[in-house]
Amino acid sequence: MTPFRSSLVTHCPLLSEGIFTVDCKKEKNLDICGCTYEPCARKGICCDCVFHHLQKRQLPGCFFPKDAEKTYDRSFEHFADLVGKKRV
Ligand code: SF4
Repeated sequence: MTPFRSSLVTHCPLLSEGIFTVDCKKEKNLDICGCTYEPCARKGICCDCVFHHLQKRQLPGCFFPKDAEKTYDRSFEHFADLVGKKRV
């Protein structure tokens, strides 16, 4: 279990008691993933991707337009700049 899923299960009684389950849609997610950073082990595991980037004050690559995503600058500041320019 990934760190994020483990944290979810620990803090959510519905998950910890087995009332709900979280099935990973990795294969489906990979079909639509807009991230071009191929070596990343988080590709398709969106919950881990979001958790990883939020800890660094960043957003996942799929939040950015294609040309901006390719810079790998995933910072809030870069995203805010693009919002200010109405690019997202
Ligand atoms: S956005 Fe970041 S964590 Fe998500 S797949 Fe791309 S490099 Fe990995």
